[in-house]
Amino acid sequence: MNATVDADICTGCGLCPSLCPEVFELNDDGIAEVIATPVPSDAEDSCRQAAESCPVDAISIEQG
Ligand code: SF4
Repeated sequence: MNATVDADICTGCGLCPSLCPEVFELNDDGIAEVIATPVPSDAEDSCRQAAESCPVDAISIEQG
């Protein structure tokens, strides 16, 4: 499973790093960045939760 963040859409609200710090981090520009590819298996649930919770739908998840 892989996660990506659309940096053009992300508002830097900080929700995804707080829900799933294994996978998401705010970079120096204050935009979320994926720091774990593929998503570690024990972080898949929280990663999905982060994607579903993103207020602007900036997170995409790909199985595989
Ligand atoms: Fe950006 Fe969405 Fe993460 Fe908020 S939850 S930091 S808008 S990707």
